[in-house]
Amino acid sequence: MPHPQLTVVVPCFDESEVIDAFHAALVAALEPTGERFEICYVDDGSGDGTADRLRALAAASPHVRYSSFSRNFGKEAALLAGMRMARGDAVVLMDADLQHPPELVPRMLELYRHGYDQVVARRDRTGEGAVRSALSRAYYRMVRHFMDVEIADGEGDFRLLSRRAVEAVLSLPESNRFSKGLFSWIGFPTAGFTYRNVERVAGSSKWGGRRLLDYGIDGLLSFNTRPLRLAIHTGLWLFLSALGYAVWIVANAVLDGVETPGYATLITAIVGLSGVQLATLGVIGEYVGRIYHEAKRRPHYVVAESDAASPRPADGVP
Ligand code: UDP
Ligand code: MG
Repeated sequence: MPHPQLTVVVPCFDESEVIDAFHAALVAALEPTGERFEICYVDDGSGDGTADRLRALAAASPHVRYSSFSRNFGKEAALLAGMRMARGDAVVLMDADLQHPPELVPRMLELYRHGYDQVVARRDRTGEGAVRSALSRAYYRMVRHFMDVEIADGEGDFRLLSRRAVEAVLSLPESNRFSKGLFSWIGFPTAGFTYRNVERVAGSSKWGGRRLLDYGIDGLLSFNTRPLRLAIHTGLWLFLSALGYAVWIVANAVLDGVETPGYATLITAIVGLSGVQLATLGVIGEYVGRIYHEAKRRPHYVVAESDAASPRPADGVP
């Protein structure tokens, strides 16, 4: 096939129920644009036969390429593999569950042709649970406050990247990949639009509460060392309050000679301070752990199988 103008990268984990419907919808959306396109599916170690479906799709269509991991490595790794496979001048990243409507891709392409290097499709929060949307809104507010990168509410991985933006993302070697932050970090002219949120068609979301919380912590810690600075500030404030309190106690004892029974205050101080110390140690440990992970320089994923046409080394650090 000649050099494609557009590559669509699709990470798939246990998506055998929707993958055919997704593929049909995507092709129907891409064909009228007249672009030469390819679709790169990355099977993230699914256990439900997704890889078989992808093999069949690749056999049936010259537009389809795929790669299959040896186990589940997570969506970030799958996106990275897809971007490494992509040969197009523009690359669209989208989910396989039809929550990212394929009919929006032509609109992204149009903005791309106006010269934008990144086109982001932001979803609104239609149909989402009240608790979850309140929590995510609070999270994004916190992220804006703490992080050096801008991430808008509802901004996900559904986006188009120009070739140079893809190369910029691929040049970031970290193994702890928080793509939303990386996309924002690379910069380039960015355009966006909002679309109406749609529910997953079939299958189930892989994001439980715990996984979301870990993802949130990852996001906060991957971009700067501000939590460490916060620990220093907290320590200083506690020290100053303790000093003030000590002066007050001594002054009281000198002036009135009172002997304050101190059991309650002592316990409160000990427990409170131990908590602060443990949390601070945890923050430091989290950074040390990250250094440890990066220092190992393991590949982000291991490929078990892929189509013959994959031009790039399929795994290993760039
Ligand atoms: N996904 C993946 N690996 C994972 C989890 C998810 O490749 O470990 C893919 C999944 O197949 C889908 C996309 O990432 O195409 C988004 O996943 P999901 O729909 O579960 O997330 P949500 O839409 O709830 O954020
Ligand atoms: Mg989904």
